[in-house]
Amino acid sequence: MKITKENGCLVIPDCVTVPFIMGDGVGAEITPATQAIVNAAVKVAYQGKKEIEWMEILAGEKAFNATGSWLPDETMQAFKDYLVGIKGPLTTPIGGGIRSLNVALRQGLDLFVCLRPVRWFRGVVSPIKEPQKVNMHIFRENTEDIYAGIEWEQGTPEAEKFYRFLRDEMGVTKVRFPETSSFGVKPVSKEGTERLVRAAIQYALTNGLPSVTIVHKGNIMKFTEGGFKKWGYELAEREFGKELSEGKIVIKDVIADAFLQNTLLIPEEYSVIATLNLNGDYISDQLAAMVGGIGIAPGANINYNSGHAVFEATHGTAPNIAGKNIVNPSSLLLSAVMMLEYFGWNEAANLITSAMEQAFESGKATNDLARFMPNGVSLSTTEFRDLIVSII
Ligand code: NAD
Repeated sequence: MKITKENGCLVIPDCVTVPFIMGDGVGAEITPATQAIVNAAVKVAYQGKKEIEWMEILAGEKAFNATGSWLPDETMQAFKDYLVGIKGPLTTPIGGGIRSLNVALRQGLDLFVCLRPVRWFRGVVSPIKEPQKVNMHIFRENTEDIYAGIEWEQGTPEAEKFYRFLRDEMGVTKVRFPETSSFGVKPVSKEGTERLVRAAIQYALTNGLPSVTIVHKGNIMKFTEGGFKKWGYELAEREFGKELSEGKIVIKDVIADAFLQNTLLIPEEYSVIATLNLNGDYISDQLAAMVGGIGIAPGANINYNSGHAVFEATHGTAPNIAGKNIVNPSSLLLSAVMMLEYFGWNEAANLITSAMEQAFESGKATNDLARFMPNGVSLSTTEFRDLIVSII
């Protein structure tokens, strides 16, 4: 059955249909492993009273081979109709009309938040001394910034025209090498900032998290990144003044470069992070590396207004290890945990995370993690799946 939205709230049926994209490369391994574990957790948690009905939809190579399209209209329509879905990694088509399937999905559904929670699992080897202090939730703006794809290549008539406009109509004299410059435009809006920061603050309040930190480069890019900071603070004051004065939440800001340093030195200072698209990209990878890398980093793209959400493995198709039964399914699995939490099915979500905690603590993991553990035992993807199911 379909999820609906009534009076601003998601209504999750007990038997919920979830469209999924298998994904290319290792997708064929991590997706079935994730589904088996999720099914087991839902069964144990709800004894048959709740259930997920998986519905495959096509994208990527599988879609191209079957339909000639990398992202068929039916796939977009299914995400629109069913509100919540999950996807494995997709090959980025080279030289096709689509720059990136992920970007197409995010834009098509206006999924303005890229949410990436970052936590450490006991037993996983980290490059930092006190990884237990890392517990951050990144809210990366997903639709604006230099990522909007408004750019012109050096040497094209468009780049030349754009430069002439800057010089003749805007009085710009600062382009150092105008003849050989490419140009990009960085739109950052008040609305875009407000909906992202609002979602971050609401998430912090709902989950009892202590602070939201606005991460920006407003010292240099005063009207775009600086605007993000200013509009973010104003929104917080205007819409969450009561919670702020009651001490329920702290809003603060930090310059992006200092933030990257501080996350290594004083990670405990940060909880929810609200940031722009490009900063969020860099920050996500650094923080993921601090707790075990991309094999274990989950993510979701969400529109909190419409309810649309696509949960996803944050890594790529890993063609170098595809088909070998060694890939770590944890990134997609933890994304599925986020999906269960989005449904409010926390009992099932907790069963999965505690089973993973137990497995990692005893040194049992796929090779990407186990090889760094002092007592590590390398499991195949299917052995890891079976272990987690047996613990659940
Ligand atoms: P990748 O993330 O696929 O792989 C980078 C490295 O990490 C490889 O050595 C890989 O073996 C390893 N790795 C990745 N996930 C792992 C896991 N779960 N367990 C163990 N090891 C893992 O990045 P790439 O090689 O740069 O990209 C390959 C393809 O994936 C490209 O076509 C790229 O466009 C696409 N891609 C897709 C997404 C997405 O769909 N979200 C994201 C990134 C890249």
